[in-house]
Amino acid sequence: MRFDVLTLFPEMIESHFAFSIMKRAVESGIIKVNTINPRDFTLDKHRKVDDTPYGGGAGMVLMPQPYVDAYESIEKIENSITVMLSPQGEPLCEKVVKELADFEQIICLCGHYEGFDERIREIIKPKEISIGDFVLTGGELPALCLIDAVSRKLEGTLGKIESAQDDSFSDGLLEYPQYTKPREYRGFKVPEVLLNGNHKEINEFRQQQRILRTKLKRPDLLK
Ligand code: SAM
Repeated sequence: MRFDVLTLFPEMIESHFAFSIMKRAVESGIIKVNTINPRDFTLDKHRKVDDTPYGGGAGMVLMPQPYVDAYESIEKIENSITVMLSPQGEPLCEKVVKELADFEQIICLCGHYEGFDERIREIIKPKEISIGDFVLTGGELPALCLIDAVSRKLEGTLGKIESAQDDSFSDGLLEYPQYTKPREYRGFKVPEVLLNGNHKEINEFRQQQRILRTKLKRPDLLK
């Protein structure tokens, strides 16, 4: 899977892949992450990427030319999708993550300041994706959320140790409670059933816990 990220702050993206599971995914060639900076496509000597909004109002708007030129410089492969990170987009959820994981290239457009000149949307026609009903300063964190979640779906990203098969949302329910050593901590004990080695009982306990937690924390998922 190849991710091409259009961003004014490439270091924000690159730093995420210097650690842990994502670093391993890059090193083993499961994912490739490429950044493209629209500032490198400006035509003026000040390398200007934004300007004041027509009609007035606060903040700066990202100009179309550097973004569209930067976008057009990306080599597109056949099974490719372009995503604009935007608070106005479709909410990112497990279903969308799974759909995205079927592509071989995801191009992410990260906004900043007041956001994109509308013509960037009109020309590129991306799928707009939001990570929630709140507004961040830029699209880099949302792009990283998307890339991280999609990468976890790709074969080989997670070793056996980090397996995702029982993760929350994998089949619509939340995950069961997890415990590790010690058996007792500050008077709180690991449930006896997890210590007896009876896998049938352990599975039953975990399944009950998944339903219980989902009912308590996210009853909307049960519908
Ligand atoms: N003025 C825009 C609006 O109200 O819809 C918000 C612009 S926001 C300050 C700057 C950039 O951050 C956006 O262009 C987008 O790329 C990113 N962004 C902010 N919140 C986001 C969210 N909830 N989901 C995805 N991207 C977001």
